[in-house]
Amino acid sequence: MQIIKSNRAQFEYEIHALVKAFYPAWDLKILTPESSVKDRRLRETEPVMELEFGENEVTLTVNADAHTYTWCSAGAVSPREYKEAFQRFLYETLQEETGISLPWGNLTGIRPTKIAMTMMEEGADEQEIAAFLREKHFVSEEKIRLGIEIARREKEILSVLHYEDGYSLYIGIPFCPTTCLYCSFPSYPIGAWKDRVADYLAALQKEMEETARMMRGRILDTVYIGGGTPTSLSAGELDRLLGSLKSTFDFGTVQEFTVEAGRADSITEEKLRVLRCHGVTRISVNPQTMKQETLDLIGRRHTVQQVVDAFHMTRKAGFDNINMDIILGLPGETKEDVAATVEALLVLAPESLTVHSLAVKKAAGLRQWIGRNGIDACSNTEETMQIAALGAAAMGMKPYYLYRQKNMSGNLENVGYCVPGKYGIYNILIMEEKQTILALGAGSITKRVSHRTAEDGSESVLIERCENVKEVAQYIERIDEMIERKRALLT
Ligand code: SF4
Repeated sequence: MQIIKSNRAQFEYEIHALVKAFYPAWDLKILTPESSVKDRRLRETEPVMELEFGENEVTLTVNADAHTYTWCSAGAVSPREYKEAFQRFLYETLQEETGISLPWGNLTGIRPTKIAMTMMEEGADEQEIAAFLREKHFVSEEKIRLGIEIARREKEILSVLHYEDGYSLYIGIPFCPTTCLYCSFPSYPIGAWKDRVADYLAALQKEMEETARMMRGRILDTVYIGGGTPTSLSAGELDRLLGSLKSTFDFGTVQEFTVEAGRADSITEEKLRVLRCHGVTRISVNPQTMKQETLDLIGRRHTVQQVVDAFHMTRKAGFDNINMDIILGLPGETKEDVAATVEALLVLAPESLTVHSLAVKKAAGLRQWIGRNGIDACSNTEETMQIAALGAAAMGMKPYYLYRQKNMSGNLENVGYCVPGKYGIYNILIMEEKQTILALGAGSITKRVSHRTAEDGSESVLIERCENVKEVAQYIERIDEMIERKRALLT
């Protein structure tokens, strides 16, 4: 484990994210005077870096080289300016130490397009946005172009939504056929949890009924059923779930109704008929890769042929808005493997393609795999991102949403591409936080978005959250508490 010592418990998230972006193989821990460290060996480990915050300056020592930054307007900078100046100093120091420039510069948040979008809404032109991203955050020219293009498109797509009096609905089904090696979502193998599905759906039904009452009078714009893999449920269970969902909420205003049928091994003609019958407009059939060896390695337990068959089955069932997800940087995959996956998807011609950079999460089995095989076996690069981007362009798609996660391979991004008109509005909403999202089911997070106008006419947005417990058994047992959390937030 690599240790960074700091004399202040400040900016720990930013330090961790940025240092990890420069040194992805490090298992990093930041020790401050407030850290409680029981492990003596950890306390005695020689730090790889030391941070010393003073009154008007901060010193970062790396490899015995001390770099010091002094605030010229000491004492007069706002907390925000102070933090931004620190992030710039940290980035420039690490850039000098490593000789590496990161594509997204010192941006560590998950929504880089939000900066461009907010500046656009405040009246900035594209040159001003580009200059800000370049000079204040060291973002590469290519990412600046991508960020601005997406923000422009998002703004146009979201213009049809009801920000103030509308909302979107998320339903989480936390069951999957098996657990993928990289999974960090609430997901339980359906085989082992079969006996609790009925209880889960009953608890969900109660949560739907109670919260629908709380949202009465508001316009439901989009609905997304995710998880997990919702199509892990049987056709009968799906039919009952969708039937009660539609009789509980007013679907008269819904502009988009998505169901993730993520895993090819969960899709059947009967389930697709149920989804069509209940008016689902958009569906995801996610290969992640079209290389069999990788599918086996990541534990998806289905074949490439099953993905192809599931796609054709979905098309035949009448779906004209099919998304496919792929992941770049999967264990052992080369750029040739990515190119072969993209080629295979070109033949299928989905309406949208979501390109993820592999993210290594704490809970995922992938961490252990990397421990044994090394981080270099999971690498995503600008070059492979470009292969996917060119593939999307060849399918007539344009990028329409983007987000980042912690510990992403290559410190890159996830990008959603689609052909004109076939975007996933919900995907943008969850990132841009423009509208309240009512989220039901285990592990879901409800966000209340309030738009405020101050007396001087300035506008601001307040975002408040409440979470449901992640464990299925806990969710079932504590459903009344989950409902009350929402009542406290939403009414
Ligand atoms: S399909 Fe998705 S939710 Fe299910 S185990 Fe795999 S990564 Fe997790």
